[in-house]
Amino acid sequence: MNWRFALASLVAGGAAFAGQPVRVGVFSLFRPQRLVVKPAAAEVLRVEIDGRAVYLEGAQSAAFRRVSDSVDCFVRRELVTARRARVAARDGGAANFLLSVPGRIERRFRGTLEVASRGGALEAVVSLDIETAVASVVAAESPPGAPIEALKAQAVVARSYYLATRGRHAGFDFCDTTHCQFLREPASDESAARETAGLALLYQREPVAALYSASCGGRTKSLEEIRLPAEGYPYYSVDCAACRREAREWTARFSGPDAQRLRARPQSEAVRLEIVRRLGWSALPGNNYQIEPEEDAVVLRGRGAGHGVGLCQQGAAAMAATGVDFRVILNRYFPATTIAVR
Ligand SMILES: [Zn+2]
Ligand SMILES: [Zn+2]
Repeated sequence: MNWRFALASLVAGGAAFAGQPVRVGVFSLFRPQRLVVKPAAAEVLRVEIDGRAVYLEGAQSAAFRRVSDSVDCFVRRELVTARRARVAARDGGAANFLLSVPGRIERRFRGTLEVASRGGALEAVVSLDIETAVASVVAAESPPGAPIEALKAQAVVARSYYLATRGRHAGFDFCDTTHCQFLREPASDESAARETAGLALLYQREPVAALYSASCGGRTKSLEEIRLPAEGYPYYSVDCAACRREAREWTARFSGPDAQRLRARPQSEAVRLEIVRRLGWSALPGNNYQIEPEEDAVVLRGRGAGHGVGLCQQGAAAMAATGVDFRVILNRYFPATTIAVR
């Protein structure tokens, strides 16, 4: 997830709307002019256009095309022009459907869909239950083979993040790019979300915009250590035994302006993001490193991967493998927080 976004949410503090659906703007990167929706998994879809309902099943589909501020809806050989269209299950609730930008991308979703014309493109907003969203994040972002208690810790982290940061876009809560948080296909196994349903990390009674990274390298970082302003939850540097023993070691060498930047602001997440956006993630895997200055260059000897703030996925998996409960994992990586239903 993006730092500016994460920080904006920390500054704004958390506004919780537990129980309300999460609204995700999807495919906005494609600026779609056309969208096609069809039923998935033997679902019957109810398409509402200007107060009229049409039903789709099997291989039937509905196509939407932007025409200035309206949407042309092609459903079952009829064309209706409307301000917006809504797609849901037969009873008006969450449905399984496939949404595509023809020729570009197709994805499966579970929720309801609204299509409208906004800013020269079709805006597609999927509303889904927060627990469905949490389960899909756990499935997409967890390391393969992570034990259930680590997955439960990840579920609480994802839920806290959603609760703390929703409403970041006009018209919807989150986008489906790295700017917000990945939203992938619905998870096939939702047990980690279900077994922690409603639980969030709270700091001073507000949900924490909880961060996580792959492998801290032996010690997690506070926001201050990676030169980010600490407002709201400050994060703490905590010992991570698994990463101290097992984190992957790496070496990187930089010269010229990058060497100067790293020398002036070692461990800065902003500097790291600037470098990896240009050179790729493997150019500077994480913030846990020692700097060795050379003539007109620096050599970085590091351990682990990611920004190193908050939940360490490698450490959480190792703790869970020894039989530790997800609450113990969260208490370790998020000192001074409580775990409660929001
Ligand atoms: Zn976003
Ligand atoms: Zn770690």
